[in-house]
Amino acid sequence: MFLSIATTHQPATDLGYLLMKHPGRVHETEHAFGRSYVLFPEAGADRCEAVLLLEIDPIELVRGRGQTEGLLDQYVNDRPYAASSLLSVALNRVFRTAMAGTSRERQPLADSAIPLEITVRPLPAQGGAELVERLFAPLGWQVTAAALPTPAGTPSRYVALTLAGTLRLADALSHLYVLIPVLDSDKHYWVGDDEVEKLLAKGGAWLSAHPERDTIARRYLKDRRKLYRAALDRLAAAEPEAGTEDEAPLQPEAIVEARLNTHDLRLDRAAEIIRQSGATSVADLGCGEGKLLRRLLKLPALGRILGVDVSVQSLRRASENLKLGLPGGPRADRVTLLQGALTYRDPRWAGTDAAALVEVIEHIEPDRLPAVEAVVFGSAGFRTIVVTTPNADYNVLFDGLSAGAFRHSDHRFEWTRAQFRDWAEAVAARHGYSLEIEGVGEPHAEHGALTQLAVFRR
Ligand code: SAH
Repeated sequence: MFLSIATTHQPATDLGYLLMKHPGRVHETEHAFGRSYVLFPEAGADRCEAVLLLEIDPIELVRGRGQTEGLLDQYVNDRPYAASSLLSVALNRVFRTAMAGTSRERQPLADSAIPLEITVRPLPAQGGAELVERLFAPLGWQVTAAALPTPAGTPSRYVALTLAGTLRLADALSHLYVLIPVLDSDKHYWVGDDEVEKLLAKGGAWLSAHPERDTIARRYLKDRRKLYRAALDRLAAAEPEAGTEDEAPLQPEAIVEARLNTHDLRLDRAAEIIRQSGATSVADLGCGEGKLLRRLLKLPALGRILGVDVSVQSLRRASENLKLGLPGGPRADRVTLLQGALTYRDPRWAGTDAAALVEVIEHIEPDRLPAVEAVVFGSAGFRTIVVTTPNADYNVLFDGLSAGAFRHSDHRFEWTRAQFRDWAEAVAARHGYSLEIEGVGEPHAEHGALTQLAVFRR
């Protein structure tokens, strides 16, 4: 089977730099399942084409598999011929740098959308050419999926896929990495617990907005219910958080906040509570673009600062905002940004003294809150936890907000002071914390302050 990537961006031979492969050579790589070759059938200034060929050893494949299915099924399958999850494995290995969107020699080009034409054949298209279209077209591709004839002349389940579009090469590769296994009906050779990580790492940004997101997660994870649920949770949480995007329409919250600057107030207050707690390490859970992290960095007692967020995009911005790894930025071992979800236990947080969840819980589906509680208040073992969330009592004071509406389109709920207190008291009691609740911002006599803040200590 083969995959070809061509560009007419000029000089087209820059494709070699982007893929980190010299167009004049054949690049051979050994894999557990066989061998792959990258070569350039065409390498001119006007057009350059790189081909990835996979030579799969069916015997190795079976040997490495250690499964007990029907023997016949193991030997008589399409692995050696068809594009499959193995192609994704090879892509990730052979073009890792390009997939990461980095290029030593041509970074501006790696950051740019360039005209690309990609061919994959034969591609097993379980779900038909129509599904192929539904998967790739929303990502900006012009899709041609032609059914390949069988020797008997009957239509087969394989297609020759051609994609044309102007995209960043890294995005194009991540589309292939995630979507080829989705079209491959056969078992993956690599479905495991880290599949969720892979799916999110490679597809996070575009996948959370994809109209076929659920189908993709389900098929990618082959209906393994637990993994599927985990992926969906995290994708849903990764949906663009309106208000943090520059181009997002101004929401009532943004308008009011711009006036009162409450976001600064609550970030300052959260940082002050962390400082007073005497913590030497802290995790900012749902750190967004790093506004609290910036404040925490100013506290010399904090030797280890973690920023955790489900959104890769936010983490990228946080990294930029904090100048991580850049001159003038913080010491490399002091701050770590981690992609992760608050609904899953994360050993990387172990041994951290304090945690902050500033304007995060209201972004979580109410039926997932108990999972967040178990992780953050249960297993993580923080001694101090600061939680802030909007005070819904205050919403009546917003001109632009109709009754019962939320301040922000991504909020799953907004609690009154009574509701927040009920939740916080129950959580504190279940996990052995003391609790203090306060308002942040100028309080209204009847409706309280704009933001409510709880400190849990133990
Ligand atoms: N604390 C930041 C950002 C608040 S916006 C600030 O005050 O500026 C809420 C953030 O929570 C977003 O960045 C969103 O990506 C993140 N988030 C939402 N659900 C999450 C989950 N389940 N796990 C991890 N992060 C989550």
